[in-house]
Amino acid sequence: MTAPVFRFAPSPNGELHLGHALSALTNEKIAASVGGRLLLRIEDIDVTRCTPEFEAGIFRDLAWLGITYEQPVRRQSDHFAEYEAALERLKKDELVYPAFMSRGDIRGAIMEHEAKGKAWPRDPDGAPVYPGADKQMSKRERQRRIDAGAPFAWRLDTAAALARLPVELNWREWTNEAMDGSAEITANPLQWGDVIIARREIPTSYHLSVVIDDALQGVSHVVRGLDLYFATSVQRLLQQALGLPQPGYFHHRLVLGPDGRKLSKSQRDTGLAALREAGETPGTVKAMLGL
Ligand code: GLU
Repeated sequence: MTAPVFRFAPSPNGELHLGHALSALTNEKIAASVGGRLLLRIEDIDVTRCTPEFEAGIFRDLAWLGITYEQPVRRQSDHFAEYEAALERLKKDELVYPAFMSRGDIRGAIMEHEAKGKAWPRDPDGAPVYPGADKQMSKRERQRRIDAGAPFAWRLDTAAALARLPVELNWREWTNEAMDGSAEITANPLQWGDVIIARREIPTSYHLSVVIDDALQGVSHVVRGLDLYFATSVQRLLQQALGLPQPGYFHHRLVLGPDGRKLSKSQRDTGLAALREAGETPGTVKAMLGL
């Protein structure tokens, strides 16, 4: 039997905080308990916000916490060609379309709709779903706009991708860290509408890179925070559309700040580097996390 494969997949667009520590430590703990392997993946497709300094900070913080992972570390920005190949496949299968509406266009369309007293659907993150009017655009008009240099993003035709599936879309979610129970969760990618799959300048997106990498790296167990629970619906749909294997999932609790909200990378006081400078130790950090 092959060993289970886990991964910790931070983005170097800020400093790691207590929430990341919980995620990395939970991955390590579960992997050890089931005789699994732990990988580290640097999710740096956003080349404008990710920096080598933040990446170095990730290595430093993990070393400080005593977390070990296999080499080599996969850095997403080294693999744009692989994501592009998957994007080409989605284009060929007509599961993505060039979406030309700007943020202003989207806001305008929604305001017009809401002025008639009808609420516009929001995705699980609270953002309005994409209106998708340009899904009807002719191939010629699309090409004309692309050739003219119009800004656009490739969006998933979620309804079309879902309609092509032979069976109901779901995923396996472990109910606890001990991995002794699981439930089949029904995926609902339509709640996200037509998500961005790639941008004109970057041939991928978070969702596309994650599913490609999890498959290429043989990840069998995706352990990450509950903030990504609903994203699983989109990722399951992409896995099906691209013929990729499906891992099992465990979404762990989130570390909340004093205001009861999820920690963000801008809250310096919960940053691991700041805690280290303030004299905390890996032991006291674990205690803060209730580990
Ligand atoms: N890179 C993502 C983040 O920093 C996590 C991706 C994942 O675990 O699926 O939040």
